Amino acid sequence: MNSYAMLINGQLCQGTESFAVVNPATEEVIDQCPVASVELLEQAVTAAKTALANGAGTLEQRRELLRACADKIEAHQEEISQLLTQEQGKPISQATNEVSWAVGLLRKQCELEISKKVLRDDAEAQVTVTRKPLGVIAGITPWNFPFYIAVHKMVEALYSGNSIVIKPSPHTPLTTLKLGELIQEIIPAGLVNIISGDNDIGALLVKHPKVAAISFTGSVATGKHIAAAAAVDLKRVTLELGGNDAAIILGDVDVKEVAEKVFWNAFSNCGQICVAVKRLYVQRGIYNEVLDEMVRIAETVKVGNGLDAKTTMGPLNNVMQYERIIELLNDAKAQGAKVHCGGVAQEGAGYFFPPTIVSGVEEGVRLIDEEQFGPVLPILAFDEVDEVIERVNNSSMGLSAYVWSKDKDLGVQIGNRLEVGIVRVNTPTTESSLAPFGGMKQSGIGREGGVWGIDSMTDAQTLSVKH
Ligand code: NAD
Repeated sequence: MNSYAMLINGQLCQGTESFAVVNPATEEVIDQCPVASVELLEQAVTAAKTALANGAGTLEQRRELLRACADKIEAHQEEISQLLTQEQGKPISQATNEVSWAVGLLRKQCELEISKKVLRDDAEAQVTVTRKPLGVIAGITPWNFPFYIAVHKMVEALYSGNSIVIKPSPHTPLTTLKLGELIQEIIPAGLVNIISGDNDIGALLVKHPKVAAISFTGSVATGKHIAAAAAVDLKRVTLELGGNDAAIILGDVDVKEVAEKVFWNAFSNCGQICVAVKRLYVQRGIYNEVLDEMVRIAETVKVGNGLDAKTTMGPLNNVMQYERIIELLNDAKAQGAKVHCGGVAQEGAGYFFPPTIVSGVEEGVRLIDEEQFGPVLPILAFDEVDEVIERVNNSSMGLSAYVWSKDKDLGVQIGNRLEVGIVRVNTPTTESSLAPFGGMKQSGIGREGGVWGIDSMTDAQTLSVKH
């Protein structure tokens, strides 16, 4: 009997098979995870459909459910955080934050109204536009923020009046299964179902004819497969995909202050964040100063098992990602990159790779052109504002970008010209938890977050009544 179970139609259940989930810090098996068979997938989707037929409840009832989930998760925060660090690798403080964000999101969402617009209301006619839930949502999640992203998809689906079947990444399924266990007694049977398995079960889920919409967070490559699968019966899609996010530091900044923020923007969660800084452009006059400061900070980082309270950077999450980072770094070195710190994988068990700062390579090298999603940061010099904007925009991806300058107006002007879904000027975060989140170009389609997330989970219905 595994310690973790799937949630299908309000029941916790095992599959006939299971697979091992590995702790990336030790390479030891944490536990076995059930595999959903095709029959169990069918049961989950049917339960989600039936639950909607029975009614998803009023908005106020749904708010109560989400608030109860928030309280339950909060009461189990430590247990979830420990498990999250074990399956994902991040330091325990960052895992604790991830669980807190999920709790905060559950509560914040309940403050939103679902819009109803009256376009006309006069002696002749009334025309209103309301938002209608889509139906059964397939929620597919990645391994970098497995708990938060699963909660996010659940919140937006339920709040908007849908039901959901969530399938976590096979690298990090356990905290999502734990979520199912915690909410089992709160959520009416079938409104939230959680199934686990490999990529194939995800592919079957998104193809299922009873699934009305897909909310996917993951790589660009998988996003394209999902868009193609969705096209068959025109399912709605929200695709939150990868980015090759740039930070631009102008020559007028306080280097020490900005470098510290940019450093953690690049290396937090071992660089495995969709909106992490993945290429850093520094105006030439302060280039060496920024490089030196970034290297100095890198050398203070304590790489280790995230369960150790002193650790500030954990391992990469899985062996594929670990090998990819080594491959991209070797390719950059072969093309003349200079490695200023790190650069050599740690010996022994675990997918540990130290924070690595690289110079001497430009666009045309894979480390600059592709999303590395790991702790190797290239720093590039630029001279003119127009030049750097062109270089940043010259990418097939467009998730987020950062601009740092004492001249806030100039920062905003630059931000306005960047082809990305999220711009942050003089801040490492978006300063509102209700802002839309998502990318331009191949970084995605649609938006999560705030009222935009509700729009993605609903369709507009126009009701026109002639008096
Ligand atoms: P991935 O695309 O490999 O896998 C994501 C999920 O899709 C997993 O659950 C996987 O099992 C499933 N899957 C794989 N093939 C599938 C298929 N054909 N049909 C249906 N499901 C399938 O991504 P990953 O490696 O887990 O995550 C890393 C990527 O996610 C990075 O590119 C990162 O930038 C991106 N990401 C984006 C955001 C965002 O909001 N934009 C947030 C976090 C991560």
